[in-house]
Amino acid sequence: MKNKEEMFKKPELLAPGGSYEKAVVAFLYGADAVYVGLPSFSLREQAKNLNLEEVAGLSFLTKKLRKKLYLTLNIFARQEHLKKLPEVMEYLADLKVDGFIISDPGVIRLAKKYAPHIPIHLSTQANTTNLESILFWRDIGVKRVNLARELSYEEAKKICVLSPLEIEIFVHGAMCISYSGRCLLSSIMTGKSANLGMCTHPCRWSYKIVEATRPNDVFTVEVQKNLSYILNSKDLCLLEKLPDIVKLSVDALKIEGRVKSFLYVATVVSVYKRAIKSLLENPSFYEKVASWMDELRMVSHRPYTYGPMFVHSEETESQSQYIRSHALAGLVIPVENKELDLPLSDSFAYIQVRRTLDTGQEITFLKPDGDHHTMELGYMEKISGQKIQRAHPGMIIRVPVEFPVFPYQVIRVKLD
Ligand code: SF4
Repeated sequence: MKNKEEMFKKPELLAPGGSYEKAVVAFLYGADAVYVGLPSFSLREQAKNLNLEEVAGLSFLTKKLRKKLYLTLNIFARQEHLKKLPEVMEYLADLKVDGFIISDPGVIRLAKKYAPHIPIHLSTQANTTNLESILFWRDIGVKRVNLARELSYEEAKKICVLSPLEIEIFVHGAMCISYSGRCLLSSIMTGKSANLGMCTHPCRWSYKIVEATRPNDVFTVEVQKNLSYILNSKDLCLLEKLPDIVKLSVDALKIEGRVKSFLYVATVVSVYKRAIKSLLENPSFYEKVASWMDELRMVSHRPYTYGPMFVHSEETESQSQYIRSHALAGLVIPVENKELDLPLSDSFAYIQVRRTLDTGQEITFLKPDGDHHTMELGYMEKISGQKIQRAHPGMIIRVPVEFPVFPYQVIRVKLD
């Protein structure tokens, strides 16, 4: 059982690192820890994932920043996957990464053999819903458990109070409509297995109903109150419930989204970081939560929901389609970039463009503390100095700014 002194402790903010750069952005915008995947072993094949050299680089950076790096090895492994795992685990053990996120008991067994000093965190896919399960995983040597998303608040509370293991809870991101991600839809419809990280998300497609003998009569499925597409889930967002979550004295709050954009990572991480800080350090949470919700609505998302944990609470948004009011405009690149040989200047921002930009558009340079700089894109030029009216994705442009910028700073653009 947890001591009283441990109550209301500051939870670790755990963010997705879909690529090396996204992991860096997550740290810059306030993540305490980042989880990243290797191709073939994590449940996000579409994420860029990292190769072993990038994991090594990120591991050194993480230690320098005094943050944490976890590796997701959470596939439900087939026999063939087990062959490469020992070698990979030994490599990661040499790097002294801070934890493995695992679902499969067989993979846990290998981790204990080939990387015995690396803490094991049990993935949400393991579907831990009760204290006896937690005690079982403790006996196996697990350090942290990510609770099943299906639990109610009261159920989670009982477990949190008595758990001898660290507890992690998802607070934000896309949700599977299936039970703890155990799902065959993608395997059946596209041959790509969700349990091996290749989900094609057929639950998020739009469906129609056809009666077998009337193939030409196609019925559209109407969206009803509190329902979206037939199978599609809304996105989890527990920001407004954070005071209740922090009261559970959980060890980590996890953000989903290794395939999401830089804008998503920077926005969601910085908003939750500021919210946690305001709850624990000064009592300004309730004054600011509405403006933080506005920021969260500026990333592409399905309607937000409190999810199963607060199933009887009023839903935050009711329509069913994607909501997209802003997009990623680009990233600030370091001016000391040797490859590009850019001249040093503190009055220009060098931007790697990620979306077509025209002069006259409103762009915002995001800051981790929320004190963002918004400006109209009045003038832009190529590195050669040629003035341009339009910049295309992939270009590097120079834009005059009247405020300091920093490498990997995320820039948002308002969509028409
Ligand atoms: S198809 Fe949907 S419910 Fe099934 S695993 Fe993929 S995202 Fe989850």
